[in-house]
Amino acid sequence: MSYRVVSPYNGKLIKEFPAATDAEVEQTLTNANNFYQQAKGQSIEQRAEQLSALADEFTKRTDYYAKFLTTNMGKLISEARGEVKKTVAFARYYVDKGAAALEDQDYTAMAGGRKAHLEFSSIGAIVAVEPWNFPYTQVMRVFAPNFILGNPVILKHASIVPECAQAFDEACQAAGLPTGAFKNLFVTYDQVNQMISDPRVQGVALTGSGKAGKLIAAEAGHNLKKSTMELGGTDVCIVLNDADLKKAVAGAVSGRLRNSGQACTSAKRYLVQSGIYDEFLTAIKKEFAKYQLGDPLNEKTTFAPLSSKSAQQHLQEQVKAVLAGGAKVLWGDPTPVEGPGAFFNPLIISGMTYDNPMYDHELFGPVAQLYRVDDEKQIVELANHSNYGLGGAIYSEDLNNARKLASKIETGQIAVNQPLSSLPELPFGGIKKSGYGRELSNLGIREFANTKTVLG
Ligand code: NAP
Repeated sequence: MSYRVVSPYNGKLIKEFPAATDAEVEQTLTNANNFYQQAKGQSIEQRAEQLSALADEFTKRTDYYAKFLTTNMGKLISEARGEVKKTVAFARYYVDKGAAALEDQDYTAMAGGRKAHLEFSSIGAIVAVEPWNFPYTQVMRVFAPNFILGNPVILKHASIVPECAQAFDEACQAAGLPTGAFKNLFVTYDQVNQMISDPRVQGVALTGSGKAGKLIAAEAGHNLKKSTMELGGTDVCIVLNDADLKKAVAGAVSGRLRNSGQACTSAKRYLVQSGIYDEFLTAIKKEFAKYQLGDPLNEKTTFAPLSSKSAQQHLQEQVKAVLAGGAKVLWGDPTPVEGPGAFFNPLIISGMTYDNPMYDHELFGPVAQLYRVDDEKQIVELANHSNYGLGGAIYSEDLNNARKLASKIETGQIAVNQPLSSLPELPFGGIKKSGYGRELSNLGIREFANTKTVLG
C-alpha cells in the first residue's frame, strides 16, 4: 500500500511516504493509552486551551496548510483557505461548548423521589479513517470532540492526501498538544484491522464509501467496538414553483459544483416543479457555463480537477453507463478530457429512470441530474426512492410548506432555501446506506463517550 501525492492538475508525482511499521503502530497505541489515562486526571479546561492553540496554529498559517489541500487533492486554492477556516471553526466550537455538552445530566423525576444522573467520560483510543475530499475538516470533526472528552485519536487518512495528514499532525505538534493525543499513521488496511481489535482502541469513526463502511463496520462489530459511519449520498435539491429563482439557482449550482462536485452532501439530484422548470434550466446552464477548468493554484481558476486520475476514470465510466441506460446530456460535453490532469467537464443530464442501471449510484463529481416533477406526492416518492439518506435542500417561499415537505424526506438532515452545509453547532449524519451516528454539535461529542448512569 503506498501513500503518494500525485498532482491532480498535471499528474506529476510530488512525494511518496514510507508505510508505518508494526513497531510504530505499537508505539502509537502505547502513547495513545498513556494520554487516555493521563487525561482522566486533567480538567477539560486545560484541553480546551490546547485545542484553542491548535485553532490558532491553523489560523496563523492558513496559506501554508491550504496549499497542501490544493496540491494533494486539487481543491481550488480559495476553497482550500475556506476549508482551513472551517477546520478552525470546528475546533473553536468544542473549545467553547465542549465542556457544557459533557456536563452531568440529572434524572430527578423518578418514582419514589429517587435520584440519578448521567456522566459522560472517555473510553479509550478512537481510530479515524478519513477521506480525501475534505482532508482537514473531516479529521477535526472527529479529533476536536474526542480530544475535549479525553479520547486519543489515531488517523488513517486516504492514501492520496498524505501531506495533508502529515500537516495535521505537524499542526498538533506546533500547538503543543500532549504526546498520544493525536497521531497520523500511514498504515495498511490490515494494520487498521489490528488496531480495531486492540483493547486500547474502543471506537472507530469512518467517513468514506459504503464499500469501506461495510468492511470497517464489520471489523468493529466483530470486535464489539463502537463505530460511526459517515457514508455517501444522492441528495435532492427540490425547487418548488414558488421558489425564489435566483436563490434556488445559486444554491443548486454551488451545491453541485463546490469542491468540483466531490462532497457527500452535494446536490446530486435536482427535482424541479413544472411551473419553474424551464426558467430554472436556462438559468443553471448559464451558471454552469461560467465554470472554467484550470490550475487550482491559480486564483483566477473557477473549476478544479477531480482528486485523481482514477476518480476521473471512474466517473467517466459511470457517465457512460448512465447514458447507455437511457439518460441524456442536456448541457455540457461528456467527451473525456485528455491529458495528464484529472479534469472533468461539468454536465447536466436528464432522463434518469428507476430502471437505469446507474440509478441511485453516487456520481462523485460535477454531474447534475435534473428531474421535472409535478406534485408533492411525486416529489416525495422520487426523493425517497434511494438507498441513501444523507441530506437535501428545498427551495420555496412558503416556509411552512417547505418545512412540512422537509419532514417527509428520508434523510439525516435537510436545508430550506440554502444549500446544505455542515455547521459546528448542528448534528451531522445520515440514515439508510448513508451511515449511522452523528458528528459535530453536542451529539457528536457523546458518540464515543461512556454515558454512565449513576443511581443515588
Ligand atoms: P473510500 O474509498 O471509502 O476511502 C475512505 C477512507 O477509507 C480512506 O482513508 C481509505 O483509504 C479507507 N479505506 C477504504 N477501504 C478500507 C479498508 N478496507 N480498510 C481500511 N481503510 C479503508 O472513500 P473515498 O472515495 O475516499 O471518499 C468518497 C466517499 O466518501 C463518497 O462516497 C462520499 O460521499 C463519502 N463521504 C461521506 C461524508 C459524510 O460525512 N457522510 C463526507 C465526505 C465523504 P485508502 O485511500 O488508502 O483506500
